Amino acid sequence: MEMKDIAVHVYRLLAASFLALAAIDVQASSVESMRLWAAPDHARLVFDLSSATNANVFSLENPARLVIDLDDTQMDTDPSTLPLHDSAITSVRTGIRDGGGLRVVLELNRDIEPRHFTLTPNDQYGHRLVVDLEYPGESAVENPIDPIEAMIRDQEIQSQRATAQQQVPGSVATPVPSPPVEVQEARAHPRRDIIIAVDAGHGGEDPGAIGPAGTREKDVVLEIARRLAAQVNGTEGFKAVLVRDGDYYLGLRQRTALARDQKADFFVSIHADAFTSPRPQGSSVYALSQRGATSETAQWLADSENRSDLIGGVDGSLSLRDKDQVLRGVLLDLTMTATLNDSLSIGGQVLEQLGRVNRLHKSRVEQAGFMVLKSPDIPSLLIEVGFISNPDEERRLRDPVHQSGLSQAIFSGLREHFQRYPPPASLLAWQRDNQRRPSGNEYRIQSGDTLSAIAVRHGVPVNQLKQANDINGDVIRVGQVLQIPRS
Ligand SMILES: [Zn+2]
Repeated sequence: MEMKDIAVHVYRLLAASFLALAAIDVQASSVESMRLWAAPDHARLVFDLSSATNANVFSLENPARLVIDLDDTQMDTDPSTLPLHDSAITSVRTGIRDGGGLRVVLELNRDIEPRHFTLTPNDQYGHRLVVDLEYPGESAVENPIDPIEAMIRDQEIQSQRATAQQQVPGSVATPVPSPPVEVQEARAHPRRDIIIAVDAGHGGEDPGAIGPAGTREKDVVLEIARRLAAQVNGTEGFKAVLVRDGDYYLGLRQRTALARDQKADFFVSIHADAFTSPRPQGSSVYALSQRGATSETAQWLADSENRSDLIGGVDGSLSLRDKDQVLRGVLLDLTMTATLNDSLSIGGQVLEQLGRVNRLHKSRVEQAGFMVLKSPDIPSLLIEVGFISNPDEERRLRDPVHQSGLSQAIFSGLREHFQRYPPPASLLAWQRDNQRRPSGNEYRIQSGDTLSAIAVRHGVPVNQLKQANDINGDVIRVGQVLQIPRS
């Protein structure tokens, strides 16, 4: 061979081996870890991959299984440590596929609808394959409201909307007290519960802010949200819907959509602040702003909270929901002003109460464009209970006594508002109207009443009540007028 030929030959050899190396680099991937979160309506399984890879996902029956095939991938983690409880998965098997590649088989104990997508690296995670196992017919909320309550709410919302459309837009400066519902003998007052949607921020693969001692925002806010929900449920005339009740992620739009599905009267999202310096501390309350943030901090915070969806993973139906929301937004434009005023009014009450148990970071309700507050028909607040980046406040946020104090303060604030402005069909409205009866010593029996409840409400022993009205047994009838004796 001539020198020139040898040079060409060597060149070809080198080129070939480079190509081979490049090919290996592109193809071989490994599963570095697997993470699982169980929600009431779905489970999410995330594969952390060393590089992007092709996945094929399909179901098998008898027994029910989900197969996840990954091209040219090897397993570098032990799936037996995954927390399978509360998920549809009973066990995870892995093996090498005929012709190479990794096969992961999930054994299932129920019907699922699989969905999968890949995510490219971001601040927190690298390449990911996300497999969602959705449970058909399940609600993301543990105790959805009962269908009759939902119907009552729908009627009420419609009549409110009609009222709002009669008003001149922009003229509502303060919340308008709801007109008393006319109680007819033929039709009982619905006396429905006021529904409070309690949203714990972040969750699942999105930890939120992390304190200097490692406290995760998603954990402390869930604790506070659960305490708040328990207080709401323990109060007559109120019912809580926990938007997130576990360690899993929900899209920001999904959270308000859930509140709307559950016919919530009010939506509150609970968060903990973080800042680059350890000094800032105290609670803040935010309402939505359509025009822009009231302060630079508010804007910065809104940006970082809105970023959540990028970490938590994207919802496939997001764009569709978005359009729906825009349409709804236009339709509900007239109620928006009233809703925002309600938010600010409730926010003021909540802030005042929070000021009794914690320092306030800002002494008035701030406004910013938080995604999670963009619910035109439900008054909504985002509460930053404190700064998790402040070591002292981080410690307090983990303290159950402080958590209870915060949730009590939040509830006192919103209860104060709803006592003043109860929705027309609510128990609170009914109570208000009945207490205001001019003839305080007479009471007309409503459907659902019992003698003992009437006695308690008027502070009279049951026996005296029966004597004064010549009642022998426990039988009373709707529409009957009782004389209430002075006790
Ligand atoms: Zn947050």
